[in-house]
Amino acid sequence: MMERSVLEKMLLIFSAFTVIIISPFVYLRWLDGDLVMAIIDATIVIVTAAFFVFVYISRKVNTAKLLLCSFLAVTIVTTVAIRGQSHLFWLYPSIIAFFYMIPARPAGLICFVAIAVIASTLWPTISLLEFLTINFSLFLTAVFSYVIFDNYSKTNSKLVLLASIDPLTLSGNRRALDIKLAKILVDQKRVPSKVSLLLLDVDYFKKINDSYGHANGDTVLVELVALIQKHSRSLDDLYRYGGEEFILLPLTVNLAEAKRVAEKLCVLIAGTIFPNDISVTVSIGVAQYRAGETAEAWICRADAALYLAKDSGRNRVVVEAEVAENDS
Ligand code: GH3
Ligand code: MG
Ligand code: MG
Repeated sequence: MMERSVLEKMLLIFSAFTVIIISPFVYLRWLDGDLVMAIIDATIVIVTAAFFVFVYISRKVNTAKLLLCSFLAVTIVTTVAIRGQSHLFWLYPSIIAFFYMIPARPAGLICFVAIAVIASTLWPTISLLEFLTINFSLFLTAVFSYVIFDNYSKTNSKLVLLASIDPLTLSGNRRALDIKLAKILVDQKRVPSKVSLLLLDVDYFKKINDSYGHANGDTVLVELVALIQKHSRSLDDLYRYGGEEFILLPLTVNLAEAKRVAEKLCVLIAGTIFPNDISVTVSIGVAQYRAGETAEAWICRADAALYLAKDSGRNRVVVEAEVAENDS
């Protein structure tokens, strides 16, 4: 079973604590003769306990957050309707929590319904000025929360993207590669299937830099990545493994098909004229994942194949199985 995320643990701890803390109040309110509040508190305890079980078993965190926000809104609105406007203050921090926890649209909808219900229940009992003050302040809290968290989530998405791409070629970086490999390994553990990776290395790239300059070498790398991405399946991702080395994965095909893909790329690149009339070739090592091995061992086998491709003349593809045959 996959380890529980921080959010999942937080939701479980939050619901467990709510049950533990509110439970005594059910008894105390009942002793006090306040049956209505005892029923409200008992409902909170029962619903929160059910929420705990839901998160623990289903692990559907997004649905759980939506349920939690809706339940919180219903509880506050009900309390205000029964006990009056002094309980309204709980809605302000809750509005901020809604926009923090769930996407802007459902959060906005929950706020809108909660404010509308509160407005209609309070209307006959308060003055026009109080009515307007309550509604405007709630409305402004919702609008500010929306603006702040919308900005926050957009900046967050940008940072996530920046942390995972190589700034020169815009292919995935090592960090993104490690995350992808870890995910593939988890999937392979659950349902083993055929998956290969290609390790590409530009031939004699040092000479390109020496002859045309480093900046033109950079342009070749940028154009090379664009070319490979244009001609690979949408399912496969390209990652910069090192200076002029790239990894293409996951090729969810058999080894013979993965070799064909690599050979097609090799021919395509060798036949392409890059800016400044530069021509380059690549050597490619192909390795299929073996059940139980680490990502490092997998790449190491592709590297051994790549080494053989270099050793046997470059501008060619070697499959890891061929390396094993040559070794024996
Ligand atoms: P081989 O066919 O054996 O791979 O020869 P090679 O010259 O490509 O191999 P080597 O690993 O010796 O050289 C790689 C070169 O790639 C050295 C380095 O200057 C260059 N390089 C690495 N990263 C970049 C980069 O971001 N931009 C440019 N322009 N060159 C780079
Ligand atoms: Mg190299
Ligand atoms: Mg090279």
